[in-house]
Amino acid sequence: MNENATPDGQGVAGGCSSPIRLAGHTDHVDRETGRTRRAYSSAGLPGGVVHLRCNNRRESVCPTCSQTYKRDARRVVLTGLTGGDGLPDSVGGHPALFVTLTAPSFGPVHSRRSRGKGGEARACRPRRGLCPHGRPAGCHARHGDGDRQLGQALCADCFDYTGAVLWNAMLPSLWKATRDRLESAVAAASGRSVAALRRELRVTFAKAAEMQARGLVHLHIVIRVDGRGATPDEVVAPPAWASVDLIADCLRNVLGDVTVPAPHPTAPAGMAVRWGEQVDIRAIGVDGPDDGGRVANYLAKYLTKSVTGSGQLDRPVRSLEHLARLALDPHARRMVETCWQLGADETYAAALDDAAGRAPGRLPGLIRWSHSYGFGGHWITKSRKYSTTFGALRGARRTFARTVAAIASGRGLLDAFGRPDGDPRTIAVGSWTYAGRGRTADDHPPGGLSPEGPPGGTGSSEGDGPAGR
Ligand SMILES: [Zn+2]
Ligand SMILES: [Zn+2]
Ligand SMILES: [Zn+2]
Repeated sequence: MNENATPDGQGVAGGCSSPIRLAGHTDHVDRETGRTRRAYSSAGLPGGVVHLRCNNRRESVCPTCSQTYKRDARRVVLTGLTGGDGLPDSVGGHPALFVTLTAPSFGPVHSRRSRGKGGEARACRPRRGLCPHGRPAGCHARHGDGDRQLGQALCADCFDYTGAVLWNAMLPSLWKATRDRLESAVAAASGRSVAALRRELRVTFAKAAEMQARGLVHLHIVIRVDGRGATPDEVVAPPAWASVDLIADCLRNVLGDVTVPAPHPTAPAGMAVRWGEQVDIRAIGVDGPDDGGRVANYLAKYLTKSVTGSGQLDRPVRSLEHLARLALDPHARRMVETCWQLGADETYAAALDDAAGRAPGRLPGLIRWSHSYGFGGHWITKSRKYSTTFGALRGARRTFARTVAAIASGRGLLDAFGRPDGDPRTIAVGSWTYAGRGRTADDHPPGGLSPEGPPGGTGSSEGDGPAGR
């Protein structure tokens, strides 16, 4: 563990319902003399452990941490639209788009259709006759919002489960290809080479993934266009020709024809992975000054949701026996099963991981990510230059908690040698071991201050990197 992960608080992880228990100590070592003093130890604490927040983004796992996660996500997205945390406020005037990208159809599913937004529900799929498997081809029910049939396939044999999980697996690659193609399209539209374009502007983004009821991932993306300043870190207004309309037109063209190839278990030609027809692109800021806030709320809203409402797929599925014990609806079960079936063929699974740009792991990606129906990407990502990071927000909270705790204890912010916290002459050396998960029986939540979880744990985000699964 590094210094930042040193558990120095004594409360039960700020109300976290599933904290990680650690036992051990941190010593402070004088860099010059080598003298060592114990700075913190869990030995004298109830149960001999300290608690770290689980930092889980899912509400079904930890209501408290998921709220913190949502707040952080909202701030990360909003900062990119309004400035702050090191970004100039002028980014609020840069061209910005809010884009929703969907998967194609892999077969009819029960869906809620209504006349206009919030309007009266219409028949799900008004169609007569039977499908090739002798089941009704239509559904005349008017499904309400919480209807458990929503997202279920009308006929499981008509639904292309293989195509659906392949699409989820390939989504990160499709998005990457889309980003690259967008850059080329903007360069072409402005009569520049990509290299020349990159000297003038930078396209940054933040995106959230949402699992739809039908088991396919949606993307909600904020795209912002910046100009290049004199230094790599400087963010300035883009050139006037880079208008929001030009960027939106380029994106629309790219979305219509970008594909990435994926190996298919039965089709020798493979599968061309592409976006669905339901694409929504709109300019941010045209609906007034609160528009950015609405977009940020919208993105953050999805991040605390589980793959299934029941939370049954919050953790990886370890085996088919484990899958059999989960209470899943037939569609969800079939999506997970399909991942396991395809993943069982090692040669095929390796080819797919290669196509999806996934590093080979101990398990094929389809099996590793069967609990998210093959999708192994991150639920929120952003480009490095978009705005502040989750890690930075966490670091700020940790420093704040430490400061308050130190003042409350009367010792001030001093290390074991009486030097100001963070003094370069002191090195912190921690020795902590995992002692379980959850609160210990003899804990009485004192409502005290507690440290944040280890950086790089669940839900951390640096640059383009992971931000919780
Ligand atoms: Zn928690
Ligand atoms: Zn229906
Ligand atoms: Zn059928």
